[in-house]
Amino acid sequence: MQINFSKNKQKEVSNIFFSIFNARIPCPCPNFAAVRIHEVSDFYELIKVLKKNNHMKIAVAKGDGIGPEIMDAVLKIFSANHVPLEYDFVDMGKWVFDKGFNNGMTPEAKQTIENLGLLFKGPMETPKGKGVKSINVTARKTWNTFANKRDFRTLHGVDTVFSKAGIPIDITVVRENIEDTYGGIEHMLTHDVALSRRFITRPGSMQVIRYAFEMAKQKKAKRITCVHKANIMKITDGLFLECFQEVAKEYPELKADDIIVDDLCMKLVTRPDLFDVLVLTNLQGDIVSDLCAGLVGGLGFAPSANIGDHISIFEAVHGTAPDIAGKNIANPTALLLSGLAMLRHVGLTENAAVIENALLYTLENGTHTGDFGDKTIPSVNTTQFADTIISNFGKKPNIGAREIIANEPGTPTPLKLETNPMMISKESESETIVGVDLFIESDEQPNAIAEKCKRHAGVKFNLINISNRGTQVWPTGSVYTNLVNQYNVRFESIEDEPLNQQDVIGLYVSMSGNFKICSFELLNMWAGKKAYSLAQGQ
Ligand code: NAD
Repeated sequence: MQINFSKNKQKEVSNIFFSIFNARIPCPCPNFAAVRIHEVSDFYELIKVLKKNNHMKIAVAKGDGIGPEIMDAVLKIFSANHVPLEYDFVDMGKWVFDKGFNNGMTPEAKQTIENLGLLFKGPMETPKGKGVKSINVTARKTWNTFANKRDFRTLHGVDTVFSKAGIPIDITVVRENIEDTYGGIEHMLTHDVALSRRFITRPGSMQVIRYAFEMAKQKKAKRITCVHKANIMKITDGLFLECFQEVAKEYPELKADDIIVDDLCMKLVTRPDLFDVLVLTNLQGDIVSDLCAGLVGGLGFAPSANIGDHISIFEAVHGTAPDIAGKNIANPTALLLSGLAMLRHVGLTENAAVIENALLYTLENGTHTGDFGDKTIPSVNTTQFADTIISNFGKKPNIGAREIIANEPGTPTPLKLETNPMMISKESESETIVGVDLFIESDEQPNAIAEKCKRHAGVKFNLINISNRGTQVWPTGSVYTNLVNQYNVRFESIEDEPLNQQDVIGLYVSMSGNFKICSFELLNMWAGKKAYSLAQGQ
């Protein structure tokens, strides 16, 4: 059987494909008539042609400061390489804040990004002062881009101490992107004491760690390393490490190990070539990824991909560089590398490789903007840098050339969600309340506080200990421990008898007769194990 497609038929097939693949197929498709269906293999050929001609639409926000200059340079390179993408420019950034939109984006921008599933963004400025949160962090968190992936590779032509010493670097940092202290949940407990809450969750950790292992497998990584501080933060970082060890069992082909973050930092600046894929919690990941940027030549070469299940965001690591904005001298490399990661993310591997080879060739030949490179060679401006890359399409660098792999475009269109996804990793274990930590304000000495607290313990509670800034100061301690005006008073039930919330509230009400209670935390047992930390010295 042979089928020749009329234009109407093309439209019909296009609609069928849309319903199956949820992919937009331009119609009429120029190469459509070339495919004739004889048998199943022809059908696959048809799919390939459809995919090749499927121009995806993505949202683009140019950003503030140098953002528009470097974004224009990158889009010019994409256009010269016939990258099959269409752009929907959205309103985000400081000027949107200034117009009175408190989250830094218009409702239309939010809708467009949620419809398209992919945002390519320039750096954005967060207005100074309290009450306004960073648009960059808000975007990553709102759309649950749970994994922040940053690739740091030696770039031939960008001199560093390691490139000069012949030590190659190829490190991928995967940073958890939602949780940790980035929840930004902070309170002043007394006029002297600030508290930040750090959330590390099992589902959130599993999500990013699974992504890191899958990515490491694709990268054919020699090693995947969990970075943590579980020796000190046994419950939070301990949970992250436990998740890593659990997922590692599913990937026996990968060498998986762990390292304490301070040890990692020392080793990164002495032997960066020992590491391949690193997976970290949010704050430690933020710091370590900037350290890695320094290893390969600075922020001008640090790309970043924020990956989510439905929406992903690609951006450079650096900021708006207000000191050089509007001068057309910024280095567009980091944004270009982020854009190339985006092209690979949507299957445009061929475009990505051709452009990356041209970029590497350009760097290798000494072309540079003012922020890096051989100072004996005059620098070029942003536009000239982009034009040089375009003129080098088809050329390959001597070192680190990328293999050309034919495009296999997917679709970034996200599933339409009706409700917020609830992530629960396993069935709840048996839970009992066995005590409470009351955080009280007081400038009295520990013994005096203990005497008062004992009077409130009643028949259900024992006063276990009192600590100040996490160090036990009662029943034992040292007079050399400096104090601040906020204590943690720990009560536990007698012989671990289960308590209920009313017991705790009763104690709270009683204690409030003597003290200002700034905060409290229940002490739980999960499956027979204490689920809280001990004070230093307890
Ligand atoms: P920055 O990264 O903007 O600048 C630090 C230094 O690096 C400056 O000297 C700058 O000139 C230089 N620099 C940065 N990018 C460069 C480039 N592409 N080419 C040449 N030189 C470059 O950091 P900052 O000054 O701390 O922050 C400025 C603003 O950017 C702040 O409002 C901050 O909140 C914002 N910011 C945004 C993002 C983001 O959008 N993801 C990230 C970081 C900072």
